[in-house]
Amino acid sequence: MTDRNCTIAPLTLTIEAQSGRARAGRLLTPHGVVPTPCFMPVGTQATVKSVSPDDLSNVGAAMILANTYHLLLRPGPEIVAAHGGLHCFMGWQGPILTDSGGFQVWSLARLRCIDDDGVTFRSHLDGSEHRLTPERVMAIQAQLGADVVMAFDECVGYPATHTEAAAAAQRTSRWLERCLDARPGPGQALFGIVQGSTFTDLRTASAQATVAADLPGYAIGGLSVGESKAEMWRIVEHTVPLLPAERPRYLMGIGSPEDLVEAVRLGIDLFDCVLPTRAARHAGLYTDAGRLNIRKARFRADLGPIDPNCDCATCRTFTASYVHHLFRAKELLAYRLATVHNLRYLTRLTERMRAAIAADAYEAFRDDFLAKFRAPDARERSRQQQRWQAAQRRAASSPAAQSAPAAEC
Ligand SMILES: [Zn+2]
Repeated sequence: MTDRNCTIAPLTLTIEAQSGRARAGRLLTPHGVVPTPCFMPVGTQATVKSVSPDDLSNVGAAMILANTYHLLLRPGPEIVAAHGGLHCFMGWQGPILTDSGGFQVWSLARLRCIDDDGVTFRSHLDGSEHRLTPERVMAIQAQLGADVVMAFDECVGYPATHTEAAAAAQRTSRWLERCLDARPGPGQALFGIVQGSTFTDLRTASAQATVAADLPGYAIGGLSVGESKAEMWRIVEHTVPLLPAERPRYLMGIGSPEDLVEAVRLGIDLFDCVLPTRAARHAGLYTDAGRLNIRKARFRADLGPIDPNCDCATCRTFTASYVHHLFRAKELLAYRLATVHNLRYLTRLTERMRAAIAADAYEAFRDDFLAKFRAPDARERSRQQQRWQAAQRRAASSPAAQSAPAAEC
């Protein structure tokens, strides 16, 4: 596609192989080809924490995500635009996706007031008041200049009543119309987001309204916000068949190895999540046996690599003992080495999934993987989540933000 102003932007997906509902393809973007399934590392503040663009290329990252909410607050979209957009600002020449900011406003901004026109909120950094509307979100994302931009949506928490979830899904549909009227920037592809919480009737209505807009890609949002895994997969399984087969499908906020493997089985192509990079900075490293904690005493004198099956720069160069030592000594290199390993693990996992799909043996691959991979149970995940949220609140809320008055509705 070459029509830069059309909603069908320069983004095409070619499906190369299928195995059951799992599919492998190539997503053509203005900044390069993305093999799918693809995990997108999250560069919240125009940087994937602790690694350089060269590191990202070396681990095989094909596409990354940046957060509109964070870049709006700091440094401001005009600064990014003055550099010529995110690609120049952060020195990453591969494809980039920006989210709409809706999820961060919902989860991070301490105070918010949502009405039909938009959202007013106070920054979690300094308490300053901001307003996002569909038009403003499109304008900011045009300044940021990503290849894929997301429509402004309202994400409800969990649990939500049917009435609350319906209102948010309908508002998301109305906001999508306004995003379309506002138009993405030149060369940008606009993805719509299906909402509807855990209610299948609402997911159906939201998917139908979103697909009616004939967009270059579709996302499933509002999941992994506290519901059980069983509920999440029930909604993904229900929603995927409602989306057009020839367009990319993006499951937002999912990124653990076992979830990637399951989501691809259900027909998802794109993922993003802070979990793999955040886990790395907390000494949590992925192997096919599960997530290990490199700080544990058993690694103190382990002269082998973290994962003998891994070809990342960390595993090729350093012993598990050395990485253990760096974490114990709180040396900064620990974060980079661990992040390189986890990102390489996930890109290799997507490569293995592509190979299994090409061989039409995905179901067997998935069964074999899940039989070996020890995933944290629901209680452990809940504990990890609570620890992180507490740390997030402590770190993110400045005294100014704490003392700011409520956003006026
Ligand atoms: Zn490695």
